[in-house]
Amino acid sequence: SFDDFAAVADLADAHRAAGNPTWVHVDGAVMLLAAAAPAMAARTAGLGRLDSWSTDGHKLLNVSYDCGIAICANASAHRAAMSVQAAYLEQGEGGRDPMDWGPDFSRRARGVGVYATLRALGRDGVADLVERTIGLARRFADRLGASGQAEIVNDVVSNQVLVRWLAPDGDHGRLADAVMAGVRAEGTAFFSGTTYRGERLMRISVSDWASDEADVDRAVEALLRHARLAA
Ligand SMILES: *Cc1c(COP(=O)(O)O)cnc(C)c1O
Repeated sequence: SFDDFAAVADLADAHRAAGNPTWVHVDGAVMLLAAAAPAMAARTAGLGRLDSWSTDGHKLLNVSYDCGIAICANASAHRAAMSVQAAYLEQGEGGRDPMDWGPDFSRRARGVGVYATLRALGRDGVADLVERTIGLARRFADRLGASGQAEIVNDVVSNQVLVRWLAPDGDHGRLADAVMAGVRAEGTAFFSGTTYRGERLMRISVSDWASDEADVDRAVEALLRHARLAA
């Protein structure tokens, strides 16, 4: 889900006004990109008032692994935290030396894939990716929730769905593990579990740019079939 960023920003402002140094960081690993989607404007309101954001290119943006991104409103604080001076390091005159802005001295040009993907998609393409994956998560939630075999545990506001599989014998956690193992073994889709408030549940994370309605319907059919077999 999304925190109420405007309320958090108000709180941070109040702390700052009272003389307390305050920094608010947003872990937007999965859904920071929602800020590009008009349909998510209410959920992401206030994000821009916070101090730093992080997100992963290797999640919703679908670039290869190892593309974490940190975005910081305070450039001098960012640089001061990351820049290292040493006699043997010849720092360039002027311009932006990548070494001053990240934890590594040496790295391959991981940003190229992220940049190319953002340029290719454009803002509309990113918004579409966000809205499409959220729509598919809702489709999962609607179909599984309507089946009578499962309950949706969370409010589905992004691409994440938490599912409780309803076992006739009451051992819902066992059924969840059996359903996930069955669907994984046949190779239709990949679902993994989580423990939420002490309860074993199934997690859905719609992340692949190429997933579509037919994929969801096929996965739902497989899930419900394995739930019947394992119940
Ligand atoms: C994936 C994830 C991380 C870990 O990030 P990696 O860059 O993949 O190691 C941290 N926080 C959240 C909320 C995540 O979803």
